[in-house]
Amino acid sequence: MNTPCKHPKVRVVAREEDTEFVECQECGEVFDSNEFRDMAIEETADKDEEG
Ligand SMILES: [Zn+2]
Repeated sequence: MNTPCKHPKVRVVAREEDTEFVECQECGEVFDSNEFRDMAIEETADKDEEG
């Protein structure tokens, strides 16, 4: 009984040169946004950047 999560809410947890790792707020899955790009990524504009 596993409902496939569509990862409606994700946040960036790590960032590399080419890769951005996002974590799903719903299921806690972590993956790189490159793979996630296929799906509709909802970028939650979190103004919390330094530099
Ligand atoms: Zn999810």
